[in-house]
Amino acid sequence: MAGTRARETTAAANGRAGTGTTVADLRRQVRDLTDRWRVQGRYTPRSDNWMRGFDLDFSRELARRGLLGLAWPTEYGAGLGQVARLAVTEELLRAGAPVAAHWIGERQIGPAVLGHGSPELRAEILPLIARAEAVFCLGMSEPEAGSDLAAVRTTAEAVPGGWTVNGRKMWTTGAHHATHIYLLARTARTERRHHGLTEFLVDMDTAGIEVTPIIDLAGEHHFNEVTFTDVHVPAHRLLGTVGEGWRRVVEQLSFERGGPERVLSTYPLLARCVHALADEPPHARDLQIDLGRLTARLATLRRLALGVARQVDEGRAPTVEAATLKYLGNDFENDVVDFARRVCLRVPDPDLRAAFAQALLASPGFTIRGGAADVLLSLIARQETRT
Ligand SMILES: Cc1cc2nc3c(=O)[nH]c(=O)nc-3n(C[C@H](O)[C@H](O)[C@H](O)COP(=O)(O)OP(=O)(O)OC[C@H]3O[C@@H](n4cnc5c(N)ncnc54)[C@H](O)[C@@H]3O)c2cc1C
Repeated sequence: MAGTRARETTAAANGRAGTGTTVADLRRQVRDLTDRWRVQGRYTPRSDNWMRGFDLDFSRELARRGLLGLAWPTEYGAGLGQVARLAVTEELLRAGAPVAAHWIGERQIGPAVLGHGSPELRAEILPLIARAEAVFCLGMSEPEAGSDLAAVRTTAEAVPGGWTVNGRKMWTTGAHHATHIYLLARTARTERRHHGLTEFLVDMDTAGIEVTPIIDLAGEHHFNEVTFTDVHVPAHRLLGTVGEGWRRVVEQLSFERGGPERVLSTYPLLARCVHALADEPPHARDLQIDLGRLTARLATLRRLALGVARQVDEGRAPTVEAATLKYLGNDFENDVVDFARRVCLRVPDPDLRAAFAQALLASPGFTIRGGAADVLLSLIARQETRT
């Protein structure tokens, strides 16, 4: 992919990202790293590896190079902003690298803590994420609360020194690896369901937390059920203000939905298709034309992602733009899988077939996780009727 045209600064010093690093430097650094790891056989590129590829060593290598917390202020990170971070995340996704260990923490928990965490919480949590020492999972969804997240029934009851949590979270990606869970819990029963919700950051090794694997249709274990039985959460692990969790979680969704991972989950498969078609004679012309269409759509989606990153850099929470990117991006990801199916029918390439099968089995989750497609459409349409 071509370089994002973000503002260029002066050259990078000493291999660590920091002020003075250009977007082109960042892209080059990530390409060098992923190429080296791939050639050394330390990972195999595959679709959806931002959710499925857990490798603490890889995340810590990024951390050592100062590539985590890139957008955070210099007190905690590199101070380069979301546009610079977008260049890095695009490159990681392009390479199909195993980034799940740091993805959730760096993408949305860090910004949430920066935005409304106490100074104590910032000092504790942000360095852990930037060093890839904390692995976060997201405890939002429940058996009866997915699209309708305000229906959360997990409770947190105030007790001396903190809170006692009881309840059940579902589809919790990476909970079996996580050191911490972001928890959305009900702290008050109010007439308006969107009130009385509160956010916490909880240590996964706390007594009373149980993680049960859920195996997906590919036979892989990436998400889980997490139950809380009289789990004590110390008072300082409250994130934000009691009862204000709904407003905050909506803000967080801009980070969760508005990134390039909602477009590029199947990019490694697309890259294989390009490779497979490179030597094909003109009879594959229809496929070449469709490849051109996909490439043009990808360019459009990248501009949308850049727009979201710029808005976040300006201090806004672009909820609708993020939902739009996710909706259109998930369509693109699925269309890549269908395109690969057609390429497989023409080109006898066993590696391509295997990559296609892997992406196909991962694909049903694309339009559900992070907000179902119909729900995103409703959100966008409601906003339209308001303006
Ligand atoms: C791969 C994967 C990973 C996930 N990881 C996490 C995680 O780490 N943490 C976490 O908290 N959750 C996670 N989830 C859960 C995910 O956020 C929910 O599955 C999603 O929000 C949908 O909720 P639901 O499954 O309860 O489906 P439901 O809310 O029951 O929706 C089912 C379908 O009904 C339709 N629908 C529902 N409500 C409406 C509406 N208002 N308007 C129009 N149509 C509607 C939609 O078509 C939707 O697809 C993950 C899910 C997947 C698939």
